[in-house]
Amino acid sequence: MSILKAAGVVKAFRTPAGEIRALDGFDLEVNEGEFLAILGPSGCGKSTFLHIVGGFEPLNAGQILVDGKVVNRPGRDRGMMFQGYSLFPWATVAENIAWPMRVGGVDEATRAQRVKELLSMVGLPAGGDLYPGQLSGGMKQRVALARMLALEPRVMLMDEPFGALDAQNRELLQEELGKIWARYRRTVMFVTHDIDEAVALATRIVVFTTRPGRIKLDVRVDRGDLDYVAFRKSQQFFELRTRLWEALREEVLKARQEDAGA
Ligand code: ADP
Ligand code: MG
Repeated sequence: MSILKAAGVVKAFRTPAGEIRALDGFDLEVNEGEFLAILGPSGCGKSTFLHIVGGFEPLNAGQILVDGKVVNRPGRDRGMMFQGYSLFPWATVAENIAWPMRVGGVDEATRAQRVKELLSMVGLPAGGDLYPGQLSGGMKQRVALARMLALEPRVMLMDEPFGALDAQNRELLQEELGKIWARYRRTVMFVTHDIDEAVALATRIVVFTTRPGRIKLDVRVDRGDLDYVAFRKSQQFFELRTRLWEALREEVLKARQEDAGA
């Protein structure tokens, strides 16, 4: 069943240099429980699309429905996580994680219980009494992940969430996210520039064209019975990765030519 439907979405930005059409006649349907990875050349409108779905950006034309309701503002049915840590530096880990619940009117005892569960779920030390400034980048993104999960959003919007992490931390967080997704099967829309990350995590991958972003390639990821680690070593993994890179490479080259010609 479809949980998200984008139809004819147009989003243009006015800039001193003229109008930029980030999205123009963009269509996409996402099914409930899908882990959708989004790949595409830089500047093709991936973040713009996620921000619109999050309700943070208005659109110029077209419509986005989540659970059949038109999106026009942020809501607790959609959780977001970005590359930047976006934690409150003045609040402890536990307070950061509890923040959406506090805003959402969840009582204190329930919040405390839920924070405890979330800390363990994302692999953070119990207690949560450190401040963001005392944490490594990987730990900070674990907090951001827990905070996004706190209200159990129907759709999780993740914009290059592990993009700033070192390779080891990125792998660990991918594994953690993979496990969490396998357990809860919530819908995820995950922008990444990392093809391996997309193939490792997603059930479906779309490649955007150069701007205005449209869907160039739309593939399902079939892991068979392989678990996360086995799949990453498999022949299917490498074949899919090659196919995605070919599609992406074409668009990246086009984007370069356009930049050079502009
Ligand atoms: P991506 O996430 O795919 O790298 P974005 O969605 O961030 O790309 O941006 C798509 C295009 O829209 C880019 O050309 C970008 O410069 C432009 N853009 C995004 N946000 C703004 C803004 N607030 N004002 C002007 N241009 C913007
Ligand atoms: Mg972006």
